[in-house]
Amino acid sequence: MSFLNITNLVKKDVRELKPYQVESIQCRIKLDAMENPYPMPESLMRKVMEGVSRVEINRYPDPSASRLKSIISAQTGISLDSIIIGNGSDELIQMILTIFGEEGDKVLFPAPTFSMYDIISKSLSLETEAVPLREDWELPLDKFLHEIERIKPKVIFISYPNNPTGNCFDRESILKILQKAKGIVVIDEAYYDFSRKTFLPYLKEFKNLIIIRTLSKIGMAGLRIGYLMADKEICRELNKVRLPYNSNSVSQEIASIILENRIEIQKQIEAIILERDRLTERLKEIKGIKPFFSETNFVLFKLVVSEANLKVRDGKDMFLRLANSGILVRNFGSDSYLKDCLRVTVGTHEEDNKFLDVIQKFMV
Ligand code: PMP
Repeated sequence: MSFLNITNLVKKDVRELKPYQVESIQCRIKLDAMENPYPMPESLMRKVMEGVSRVEINRYPDPSASRLKSIISAQTGISLDSIIIGNGSDELIQMILTIFGEEGDKVLFPAPTFSMYDIISKSLSLETEAVPLREDWELPLDKFLHEIERIKPKVIFISYPNNPTGNCFDRESILKILQKAKGIVVIDEAYYDFSRKTFLPYLKEFKNLIIIRTLSKIGMAGLRIGYLMADKEICRELNKVRLPYNSNSVSQEIASIILENRIEIQKQIEAIILERDRLTERLKEIKGIKPFFSETNFVLFKLVVSEANLKVRDGKDMFLRLANSGILVRNFGSDSYLKDCLRVTVGTHEEDNKFLDVIQKFMV
């Protein structure tokens, strides 16, 4: 059996997939993954350590994550039976596509957007269709509505705000999409804490609307906790495929304590928003750099090579120069919609200053 070709055993749709790209380069300043740059405040850390010491890790976790869900329910006003906890929101995307996607079904989203919508759909043998965004990163509404009519997607994904462009699409356009869609519309509010814009009030009106959020961007990326809010009928169906212990007891405990003490984290969120706006303004001042307006905790920027005095060749070159200076950002060079674009996560004031110094050095 030593001649067995494992690749040939893998289903075709997976064989053709490109995996989600995570850089393995080690850098002193990590600005590539939209993490909160601040450590947990000490007073909160003490409460977390106490909480963790009480967790019985010899026992299975609470399969319904009831304490965590109650806290989310109290903070959002959404009832318990309309909330599901995921092992990160990635897992929720997978669950949604698992229960709604049947052979031949189509999944629709704009491009560029969060790459996991495409990767997970394809891994489940679903066909995907991407509608290119306008140059100002807005949804081309007529084209999008036309695609809904043409391909009748079972699931539509809208990242609100959109990763990696950073903007929230026009609310009225999204409402028109909700009115037109006959399938499920997922509004991914992963960056809600930084945009403060939500479609939550529309959950009652649109039974096919699912909203997903994550705790990853506000300081808990390592816990892997995402949550979903939708009509209870949708949640009932999703719970049939959710693995019973998908969220572990340590993560449930820590997330509950942090959300109960939200005020501590809220101060960090406010600081990140202020720092994002400063970073954007400073980038605007650098000749040859075009930052895009962001309502998230990252800023996408484009290198306008003709304006630069040719010290930097292209986006990849800038990425490597930053990495050589110990700063890791995300390079989108290989994405056709994002030529010479890089995405920088908002860091601490000091980290961002170092990043700006390096960029400045190469652009003047
Ligand atoms: N949705 C969007 C739009 C994202 O940018 C991300 C993270 N990059 C996720 C979902 C996944 O977040 P997590 O799995 O950490 O909850």
